[in-house]
Amino acid sequence: MVLGRAHSVAVSGVEGVIVEIEADIGQGLPAIHLVGLPDTALQESRDRVRSAVANSGEKWPDTRVILALSPATLPKLGSVYDLALAVAVLHASGCVPGERLAKTILLGELALDGRVRRVRGVLPAVIAARTAGRAAVVVPEATLAEAALVTGIEVYGASSLREVVSWLCGRGTLTVPESNSPAPVRAGGDLSEVTGQEEARWALEVAAGGGHHLLLTGPPGIGKTMLAQRLPSLLPPLAEPEALEVTAIHSMAGALSDDHPLVTAAPFVAPHHSTSITAMIGGGSGIARPGAVSRAHRGVLFLDECAEIGAKVLDALRTPLEEGEVRIARRDGVARYPARFQLVLAANPCPCAPARDVDCVCAPLARRRYLGKLSGPLMDRVDIRVRMYGESSAAFGTAVAESSEVVRARVARAREAAAARWREYGWLTNADVPGHVLRQRYRLPRESLAPVEGALQRGRLSARGADRAIRVAWTICDLRGGDIPSAQDVVLALNFRQRDPE
Ligand SMILES: [Zn+2]
Repeated sequence: MVLGRAHSVAVSGVEGVIVEIEADIGQGLPAIHLVGLPDTALQESRDRVRSAVANSGEKWPDTRVILALSPATLPKLGSVYDLALAVAVLHASGCVPGERLAKTILLGELALDGRVRRVRGVLPAVIAARTAGRAAVVVPEATLAEAALVTGIEVYGASSLREVVSWLCGRGTLTVPESNSPAPVRAGGDLSEVTGQEEARWALEVAAGGGHHLLLTGPPGIGKTMLAQRLPSLLPPLAEPEALEVTAIHSMAGALSDDHPLVTAAPFVAPHHSTSITAMIGGGSGIARPGAVSRAHRGVLFLDECAEIGAKVLDALRTPLEEGEVRIARRDGVARYPARFQLVLAANPCPCAPARDVDCVCAPLARRRYLGKLSGPLMDRVDIRVRMYGESSAAFGTAVAESSEVVRARVARAREAAAARWREYGWLTNADVPGHVLRQRYRLPRESLAPVEGALQRGRLSARGADRAIRVAWTICDLRGGDIPSAQDVVLALNFRQRDPE
């Protein structure tokens, strides 16, 4: 019996596990058997692998070949194992020596002519290879820049099976990554491009400072989208471990750019209001793809015209909002994706959406129902609500608006103050802090609480609304560099809620 052995990685969610592939060339008529939970795509890889080997100038055994993938209980989906399957057979037939092979992870799909094609999820796979203590990993050349983001493991890019074989035999070389440090890419524009809308700009700054979810209502064309797109530019850049985590998700989504593979700035994801639950949360056939909530991880999820979004889709947002991750059930287990995002909702005030409120032709009931959809458990998590109004042309003559860079510096200081205060609890931002902690452990002085108590007594504020106002007051206090929220901070926070759609 002649056994060949090669290794690859199974990725589920953003976690990878090493898969061992054994090839046994035995007696009997020519045939290929695959063992170990193979899915359809993997069955198809039998034919691809055989053609690729033959077309690379190597001989495919003319007897029976058994290929076993283990651990057998892992999901082994897709075409990422093609390269390792081919090499395992060539190892069994003595065409490839074992020394280099034993230390190397192989990732890639094979074309019939032996070219190595790109696959999704290369980054989490390379991280798994490093964690498992492997010395080297061979990836499709097209994904080399992405793989090279992982340090502490040798990374090689291959364009064909022939190249890989000659490298394993010690005859040829593979492409090594160019050393270049990726520049942070910030998309979405600068805050200085937004003129006027002082209150909404300020709300955006407070949302950034405290990590608060935000609702913007106002007539179409008033600049809700323009503002939301600029929220990422106010957030601090991602630290290296966060950047790798976010990049791994985008790698699974097949959404990385070749030039700037590392996602270093907070992402901005804006699904259409007609989006499906699967597109929002993740899933699909085969490998579970991350949904919009996970692609927005550590960034911003913007839902424009949110009153038009289906109730089931809105409801599905609750789990990621509460738990910061989604679990997608698959036939062969559960894929987990992180999903900790800042939510920005935008809505027209009513179905007819006129430019000026006085032109509204909606029945009062229709008006109330329209935004009534946005009450309940989802809205309980939205700390800041702002109504935007059209401005007179005088607003365009005002002084030059502050740039994102200036605001980002204030936001960074406020975030540091909040993180230091809540560190012992494990919370990073004011938005993470539950109401009971604000009420008991970090109770405000009486004079600061007076505006909230007044509003409560007059029935203008619910108990939850009071918690939200105090949470936002902490952020306003952090932004001005204060120690504890003053009555003025609390009044400003309450102003964000006076014109609720409740
Ligand atoms: Zn209307």
